[in-house]
Amino acid sequence: MSAAAIGTAEPAVPYYAPTGDECALFEQAFRHRLPLLLKGPTGCGKTRFVAHMAARLGRPLFTVACHDDLTAADLTGRYLLQGGDTVWTDGPLTRAVRGGGICYLDEVVEARKDVTVVLHPLTDDRRVLPLERTGELLHAPPEFMLVVSYNPGYQNVLKGLKPSTRQRFLALDFGFPPPEAEATIVAAESGLPRDRCVPLVRLAGALRELKGQDLEEGVSTRLLVYCATLIAAGMKPERAIRAAMVEPLTDEPEVRQALLRVAEITL
Ligand code: ADP
Repeated sequence: MSAAAIGTAEPAVPYYAPTGDECALFEQAFRHRLPLLLKGPTGCGKTRFVAHMAARLGRPLFTVACHDDLTAADLTGRYLLQGGDTVWTDGPLTRAVRGGGICYLDEVVEARKDVTVVLHPLTDDRRVLPLERTGELLHAPPEFMLVVSYNPGYQNVLKGLKPSTRQRFLALDFGFPPPEAEATIVAAESGLPRDRCVPLVRLAGALRELKGQDLEEGVSTRLLVYCATLIAAGMKPERAIRAAMVEPLTDEPEVRQALLRVAEITL
């Protein structure tokens, strides 16, 4: 199976700092059996949010990182050869439906088109998953929830979610956390004292301003955490900033120089 699927039922609730009413909205969506779409740039906390909510609600989480070879069968399951026999093996979506779990499809627009065909009957009031190959029609239990994410920033026109699909989901717009919250998050994740995270967050803000001009994507919260982690481990801030907040953003020498100048001025 090519999908990266992880079934987890961790007792501990992963740390997540809310920046609005997203936890309440997720909970309402879960209670009312409504599917949820998370929109936002990479590394802004979507996956952590879903892991946090799944643990809070006590449901197992099945996460699938979608890619352009991902087919419906990767999600639903397939017959596999096992010691001379062919045995049906559930995919992560089927496991989530059978077990009343939360299925999170990260970057769903990357997947092949046939994936939307299996999602549609699960995302309206039928809440069913037909398994053509086994002849089963699975009815999702109340605890099943479908969550998908996509990054509107770098989707080309062809890859955007079709209105017929997106209008089946409640949607939450995820941006980078506001600076105060982001400094708290970076400190909690990296162990670097908060007052030393504040300038890094300010620099991230300045670099994010350049998005669209010279950069496709701004610095993610994830990269900020990496940077602070290196500094907390004793690395010189200039070196850590270059490795975590400049080099990952560009391959262009001129743009790199410009980013390093922004870092010098901002810090
Ligand atoms: P995405 O799924 O949007 O690409 P992630 O959920 O993987 O991003 O977030 C990347 C990292 O940023 C997380 O591992 C975590 O360290 C940190 N992070 C971002 N936002 C938050 C938040 N609100 N609370 C806690 N950690 C966060």
